[in-house]
Amino acid sequence: MFFIIILAMLLSVYASWKVSSNYRKYSQVLASSGMTGAEVAQRILSLNEIRDVTIHAAPGHLTDHYDPSNRRLVLSEENYHGQSVAALGIAAHECGHAIQHNQLYAPLQWRMAAVGITTMAGNIIPIVAIGGMFFLSFKIVLPVLAVAFGIVMLFQLVTLPVEFDATARAKKILLSTGAVTQGAEFNAMSKVLDAAALTYVAAFLSALASFLHYAMLIMGRRDDEE
Ligand SMILES: [Zn+2]
Repeated sequence: MFFIIILAMLLSVYASWKVSSNYRKYSQVLASSGMTGAEVAQRILSLNEIRDVTIHAAPGHLTDHYDPSNRRLVLSEENYHGQSVAALGIAAHECGHAIQHNQLYAPLQWRMAAVGITTMAGNIIPIVAIGGMFFLSFKIVLPVLAVAFGIVMLFQLVTLPVEFDATARAKKILLSTGAVTQGAEFNAMSKVLDAAALTYVAAFLSALASFLHYAMLIMGRRDDEE
């Protein structure tokens, strides 16, 4: 139990360090295709006959995401205009989500359905945790926290296939369209996307550790009462 918490903490520090160091390094490596992130994204969407998704540039560092409710593919300015292997990899990864949405890929559907309740659980956790320090009884606090972290944990679990699948699609498409060449360009792009995937594994493990922590506290108290 304690081991999972430490592992999750170490992994999340390592993963976020790896994401920023790989991105810094490979956003300097230009792809020989000369395409920008926005051009690659447009190309991928067209090839998949997705016409209802619009591509936007957003300020900020690594703000890239796909917004399924508005069918918007949002790229950070440096990836929208960038011609690096990192920019093309991230643009293609976000396209992977748009393709998942278009094909009604099941884990993405589950994830979308769970966003509302997960946001609610995320809001409840700090309120109940603080309330527990002052006036709420453990009998209320522990089960509420266990359920809330359980919901967050399941959400992070469903996120894993969504993210790994988007990255797998991105790698395949970038090679087949020639946006990134096999060898050094492909390997560099893969390092950026694989590091990003690791952050989702770390997020899942830390939610799992929190859930197990509260579940075991409840079981421990039950044993005391018997
Ligand atoms: Zn993603």
